[in-house]
Amino acid sequence: MKSIKKPHKTVFADTSAGAPTYWECPACGFLSGDPRFLDLEHACPACGASGIERRRFPSDRVRRLDDRIRAYQEQGDGEIVVILVMALLETILEDIVDRMMSAQGADLKVRRVVMDSQRSIGVRIGKLFPALAGEEFEEAAEELGYRDFPKRWRTMREARNAFIHDSPFNGPRERLDAEMGADAMVLLDQAYKLFVLLNNKFVADGHHRS
Ligand SMILES: [Zn+2]
Repeated sequence: MKSIKKPHKTVFADTSAGAPTYWECPACGFLSGDPRFLDLEHACPACGASGIERRRFPSDRVRRLDDRIRAYQEQGDGEIVVILVMALLETILEDIVDRMMSAQGADLKVRRVVMDSQRSIGVRIGKLFPALAGEEFEEAAEELGYRDFPKRWRTMREARNAFIHDSPFNGPRERLDAEMGADAMVLLDQAYKLFVLLNNKFVADGHHRS
């Protein structure tokens, strides 16, 4: 039998009742939605660390925004859902770029300078991400099983921009309101999962964290 290094299986958290809850290994940054990971004696599948308190992901700030988005979605307010989901996605994807920099040894000062000088999400994903990952965001997403995510995200950003700048969007206005809200919720769910997979691939697995 060939001996292949088996990737650590990522366990997704339940999202049926709001934002998912993941626990982060403070030693290597691995994220798991496995409830057993809450038990401090359950060793981290990536680095084997145990007995250290684990932080919750996403942060409370993200969870609060997530709660509000779900409330707007229940009210059928698709427009605000799209706008807020886009804001949340940018926060989540900005966070992964920051964590990748950290995993490669960049300290807080350096990360701040980089993020301050690269403010657009397009540049962060188009330039920073490949520099850190060694491959394009689209390729990484495809490998992890989310091939359509980058395109759907781009389409949703265009829709959001159309709302904000009051310019025409490819498609009737009603579609933005009703279906786009539902589409945005699907995208949000995928974004959490993709974040965790990207994290476990590019941040947690054997990289140094400062
Ligand atoms: Zn670990």
